[in-house]
Formats: sequence, structure tokens, C-alpha cells
Amino acid sequence: MIITIDGPAGAGKSSVAKLVSQYLNFLYLDTGGIYRTMTLYLLRHNTDINDPEALKKALESIHIRYTSSHIYLNEQKVDHLLRTEAISRHTSDYSKNALIREFATRLQREIARDENVVLEGRDIGTVVFPNAEFKFFLTASDTIRGQRRYEELKKKDTSVSLDKIIENIKKRDENDMNREVAPLIKAKDAIEIDTSKLTIEQVAKLIVNHVKTEE
Ligand code: C5P
Repeated sequence: MIITIDGPAGAGKSSVAKLVSQYLNFLYLDTGGIYRTMTLYLLRHNTDINDPEALKKALESIHIRYTSSHIYLNEQKVDHLLRTEAISRHTSDYSKNALIREFATRLQREIARDENVVLEGRDIGTVVFPNAEFKFFLTASDTIRGQRRYEELKKKDTSVSLDKIIENIKKRDENDMNREVAPLIKAKDAIEIDTSKLTIEQVAKLIVNHVKTEE
């Protein structure tokens, strides 16, 4: 069974998807992590992503292994390198590229093949798994999304400012919603949940209850 959870940055997708996967004993797939890992590789190798030949060659050298607890880039564990503001910004730019999206989409379909999976991202219910059994779309106000991200980043970097984070989130949304390939958009058949006033547990329970009653 495939459950998709899409939505903008900071809507609570990762925490909710993780919890839903634990409740249901499903695999959890953070597709943003795949785009972030690809971005890390392309930045490290100074790849000109606007040169299709150079990009294709670079993509051939990327091997991403995904387990329920870690993500490996060419066998190096990279989880701790993926959540910086710089990687977030670059990932949103790089993920506009059709070749990069093709690579990530293929990998996501491979990982999820024949599995019970909860996948979270931007285009999972629309492009990667348009026939998924259950689709959800999480939203929350800009301020709440900014505050959540702020709390997360503050633990590592005390110089971050809430205003700057809200500004970055809005820019990233703009980028993700307005790109030509696989833009961030709610699938017609997705159930929308505004998470602004709900806890992670409440959202996860809403999803699990829906899945269990409709199954
Ligand atoms: O979800 P996360 O914040 O880790 O995603 C980072 C970026 O990766 C997003 O801003 C978006 O540009 C890109 N992404 C995407 N499609 C997905 C998941 C993430 O384009 N399915």
C-alpha cells in the first residue's frame, strides 16, 4: 500500500509521516532527503546542472542507499549534512531540473516497489504515485511553519532569525509551486489537513484513522 503526504516546507510532513509509518509498521520515505543528497553531491563536484552532458555523467556517479534510519551517498552516511539552510535553498533550485527529477522519481519508485510505504514530498500524489491508495496534503500558516523550522534550526545554530527563516520558506514555496516540472500542488483526490493548530500526534492519528476505516 502507498500513502502519500505532500505539502509545503514546515507543514509537518516529515514528523507526521514518520509517526504514521510507525503506527502502521510501514516503511517511511523522505523524498526531500533524496533531492537534498543529490544536491550535496552536485555541489561538492561543482557540476554545471545546465550542461545536460555534465549532469548526466554526474548522475551516473550518484548512488543513494536509503534505510529506515539513514541515507547514504556513495556509502557515506550524509543525514547530518542535509538540513542546512544552504542545502535547502540549493535543493529547491536544483529540483526544478527535469533530469534530476527523473533520477529521483525512478529511485523513489524502486525503493517503494512491493512495499507498504508512507512517502512525503511535493509531487508524490501527483507524479510519483498518482494511483496511491491514500493521499494527504498538509498545510499550515507561514508563521507557524517558520516557527517550527526555527525551533529545529535553533538547536544547531543560535544565529538564525525567525524573520529570515519565514522569508526563506516563502521563497522556497514560490520556487516549488511555480516550477514547470512536477510543481507543488495538491492532487485532486488528496485530503487536505491544516496542521496549524494540531500536534504531530493529532495529525498522524487523523491519517491512520482514515486509512483504517477506508481500507
Ligand atoms: O521536504 P524537504 O524540505 O526536505 O525538501 C527539500 C526540497 O526538495 C524542496 O524544497 C523541494 O524543492 C524539493 N523536493 C521536491 N520534490 C519532492 C521532495 C522535495 O521537489 N518530492
